[in-house]
Amino acid sequence: MAISIEELHKSYKDSKTTATETVKEIIATIDAEDKTINAYTEVFTDEALKQAELLDAKLAKGESIGLLEGIPISVKDAILIEGHKATASSRILEDYTATYDATVIQKLKKEGVIFMGKTNLDEFAMGASTENSAFGPTRNPTDTNRVPGGSSGGSAASVAANMAMISIGSDTGGSIRQPASLTGTVGLKPTYGRVSRFGLIAMASSLDQIGPFAHNVMDTAHILNIIEGKDSMDATSAELAANQLLDIESIRKADVKGLKVGIPKEYFIDGIDTEVKSAIDEIIEEYKKLGVEFVEVNLPHTQYAVPTYYIIMPAEVSTNLARFDGIRYGLSELEQSQDLQEVYKASRAKGFGNEPLRRIMLGTYVLSSGYYESYYGKAKQVQAMIRQDFTNVFKQVDAIITPTSPHTAFAIGEKVNNPVSMYLEDIFTVATNLAGIPGISVPTLSNAGLPIGFQLMTNHFQEQTLLTLANAIDNIRYARNNN
Ligand code: GLN
Repeated sequence: MAISIEELHKSYKDSKTTATETVKEIIATIDAEDKTINAYTEVFTDEALKQAELLDAKLAKGESIGLLEGIPISVKDAILIEGHKATASSRILEDYTATYDATVIQKLKKEGVIFMGKTNLDEFAMGASTENSAFGPTRNPTDTNRVPGGSSGGSAASVAANMAMISIGSDTGGSIRQPASLTGTVGLKPTYGRVSRFGLIAMASSLDQIGPFAHNVMDTAHILNIIEGKDSMDATSAELAANQLLDIESIRKADVKGLKVGIPKEYFIDGIDTEVKSAIDEIIEEYKKLGVEFVEVNLPHTQYAVPTYYIIMPAEVSTNLARFDGIRYGLSELEQSQDLQEVYKASRAKGFGNEPLRRIMLGTYVLSSGYYESYYGKAKQVQAMIRQDFTNVFKQVDAIITPTSPHTAFAIGEKVNNPVSMYLEDIFTVATNLAGIPGISVPTLSNAGLPIGFQLMTNHFQEQTLLTLANAIDNIRYARNNN
């Protein structure tokens, strides 16, 4: 399979490959690999093949096709596709079938992409390893004894193992960027509000954002270009100003000369693996050669980001997950119960795994009367300070660079029984969600061993700068691989 959208599009147009061949090749890879990797919760084999045939018929007639037509895409199983299951990798939604398309799905359907299936996640997107799935963990394609990161681990693994070209995931505290880093893929979390959340099963609505995984930065730009924009079904989605729209050609050129990038000293702490540190140092050196200027910056409230997130997020989780009551959706213990209270209790006890239960309890506690001000109220104040840190820094610099994760992929089982160490996985990614700014994880140029990603962040709606900077490294990678 060609590895970029543009390459696959070109080989369709030049009749170098057909959509049917492409889809068959992917299905063969899924058949061979996914018993072990477990990236997919459902594969749309027949539908994808049928769609491919239609596209091939169109190509045979010499009709012109759009850039995304026939691009094979997988979708995190927390995003609704009409007529397909949407389980959020939870028992409580195991038999739930979506009755409508998420806005991002509608938009991608219009472009004629081919959906390959739904991908595994940590239950309700709560986790950083995809081990919290009710349907078994996803494994990292680079080393199947290791996790792919999470919560969008199935998405990341599907792309990394060529079981899809693109995947659509969601990121509440790092769930796109951290798995991208651990699997050697590119993962983009757009600015809060840039992409509609309509049809995403909500985790923490004020932090959730949908974004793409891909093999390269240009692909994420092409996808963002389609899925972004104001949506009447999501009141928090934003109308983009003309100067916030993507200029694809300029991202391609990746002229980064004169851009100023901040290195926040709070992110380069003890505890980062030396291999991660040196891989990031190499990226910084490459940028310098391209004329990027680096300055040290301060994000003084960084140490409060994880604790703040683990108050605000569970508060929202506890309210969002109240809808799973055994009456309206999914698993129901109605028949076995004596009264309404018992339906709620029995359905929820049976349907939710440990991590959602833990967060629902924590969230209910921090929102309860007497504690609300000292926990939730306080956390919202600290969030404002974290946001202000970024506002201050973006007065001095165009972007910020950090590692995406302090280490490479860890072993399956290593952290699953220690929630605090799992929560610390988000140390470099959650502040972005709390501030609402965009972030991207891009593979470093280090080829040895396990994948290592670096993270770039910019101010709200500055994805143009984010992607331009990110693509500069992809261009170097491409030049190296083709020499
Ligand atoms: N790992 C984080 C958590 O467990 C982030 C998850 C996410 O972004 N959905 O909450």
